[in-house]
Amino acid sequence: MLKRSLTQEGMDKEQKMSYVLNEPLNELFDYKEPDYELPVKARLFNSIACEQCREFASEHKIRLHDGKKICLDCFNEYSRGW
Ligand SMILES: [Zn+2]
Repeated sequence: MLKRSLTQEGMDKEQKMSYVLNEPLNELFDYKEPDYELPVKARLFNSIACEQCREFASEHKIRLHDGKKICLDCFNEYSRGW
């Protein structure tokens, strides 16, 4: 979280700028590696990992095939030529 009180009180624009530039990033922000690899967008939907290609797909794009949850792409490959 940005330390707003420190940057806004008693500093002119230039001082604020150099404060922001000189402070180590982890001083200014509570910076953490996300413990997930998904894009945020995908997390808005109920995403399910395809058991074939390991890609995440939204729930409505997942099909069951032999009891495995697979994405539409993989499903189409399975069903191709059948
Ligand atoms: Zn797949």
